[in-house]
Amino acid sequence: MRVPYVDPEACQGAYICESIAPNTFKVNDQGISEVIDPQGDDEATIQQAIDSCPYAAISWKEVPD
Ligand code: SF4
Repeated sequence: MRVPYVDPEACQGAYICESIAPNTFKVNDQGISEVIDPQGDDEATIQQAIDSCPYAAISWKEVPD
């Protein structure tokens, strides 16, 4: 399966991912987005968040099922 991954070096805390997919992403106290649930939103919604990040900080990562 694939899960979203946030590159903490690239993330600038723009909050866009959290606003699009709030069940998947949450910006932490340091202003960096974290994946709180890799399947919190459906794939299309997560893809929209990925496509909307102005810093291209989110990508899909393959993990074993
Ligand atoms: S949209 Fe991109 S830069 Fe903004 S919080 Fe999410 S991952 Fe970080």
